[in-house]
Amino acid sequence: MTPPIRPSSPQQREEPARQESLRSLNLELVFRHILAADHPISRTELAAVTGLTRPTITRIVEELLAGQLVTEAGYTHDGRAGRPRVGLTVSDKGPAGLGLDIRADGLAACIVDLTGTLRHIAFTPTTYADPAASTVLADLARMADAAIEAIAAEDLTVVTATLAVPGPVDAGLVRSAPVLGWRNVDAGALLRDATGHLDLPITVDNEANLAALGELYASHNTLNSFVYVSGGLGIGAGIVLDGQLMRGMRGWSGELGHVTVYPDGRPCPCGSSGCLQTYASLDAILGDDPAPPGTTPENAITTRAETGHPTTLAALEAAGTALGIALSDMLNILDIDTVLLGGSFALLASWLTDNAKQQINRRVLTTDWAPISIRPALLGPDAAVIGAALTSIDQIRQHPATWLLHQPTPASRA
Ligand SMILES: [Zn+2]
Repeated sequence: MTPPIRPSSPQQREEPARQESLRSLNLELVFRHILAADHPISRTELAAVTGLTRPTITRIVEELLAGQLVTEAGYTHDGRAGRPRVGLTVSDKGPAGLGLDIRADGLAACIVDLTGTLRHIAFTPTTYADPAASTVLADLARMADAAIEAIAAEDLTVVTATLAVPGPVDAGLVRSAPVLGWRNVDAGALLRDATGHLDLPITVDNEANLAALGELYASHNTLNSFVYVSGGLGIGAGIVLDGQLMRGMRGWSGELGHVTVYPDGRPCPCGSSGCLQTYASLDAILGDDPAPPGTTPENAITTRAETGHPTTLAALEAAGTALGIALSDMLNILDIDTVLLGGSFALLASWLTDNAKQQINRRVLTTDWAPISIRPALLGPDAAVIGAALTSIDQIRQHPATWLLHQPTPASRA
């Protein structure tokens, strides 16, 4: 079970909105305080911390309860004398977020509730014998159905979905996903068609970005700046600086796989030569000996490495060295001291880390004073799918008033 999403804490004491037209801002203010509280918080406490009147708090709490965004959770004493008061906390029933991920070794789906707790996760290995977008997304739609069915008895309703894809995404369009041979694929529209019966809003984003967000949420403020490296058939990075995902102008930052490691090195399909990807992708590590039919590349590599297969061990050493060289450039520029190895690299970390670290220690100027930590991602290969689901549900956490506005009224629901 993944740790809950980290609360979006109120930055400072915010003033209550005075105008009726700003009613939704007051609702969001109250909800943020319930999210950030480390205990069930009473209506009286909410009035005190927000500066809103007690009748306003009562009305807002009624709305939040009706929308299943909060729930009453026992009694709290407020640290004062007198009768105990009913505490409020974020609901673990009601709206939930769906995450879907196209991984190098298969398809993943998961569901998180509004508290950020993982409620369901499933993985189907595939070798993409038919990588056509319509086939892959129809398979994912079936996994979405199965995930929703699995939580049917838990009083949760999946209301939003995010799809993680291995390539740069431009306003919902997958510009390129070499793993699948996709170019300019409108994956969001295809998935919406395939899941039409679910009627879900669907967001599409790069898997390394979503995985970095997953790690950020799961770290509970212990990680603030880091590079998440997603290894697979391609190599991407999600960069988090000061608690914010650094997307770049279009969301394309972090194309680590095409950082030049050896200028006169191996030719890369991108047209350049000596790119990291040509030394550290799963295909590069497998070399002339591809994974046998029915075996994922990761499994083939780990099986060979564990049995001391010399060519595989040499390829892993070269991959770790190339990774360390590419990361050193990034770390010298960004002033970040933590690297998380995710995707397939989470499984291969024990063979990559030493060589990568050797290069980093040699090449990053500041390692004498601030050593760089390089380690497997907390959520392992599931970081992107969990990050996708958390990103989905975070839209409701950030904008509960917008969410409630689009819900049927309690009367019409009944
Ligand atoms: Zn390249």
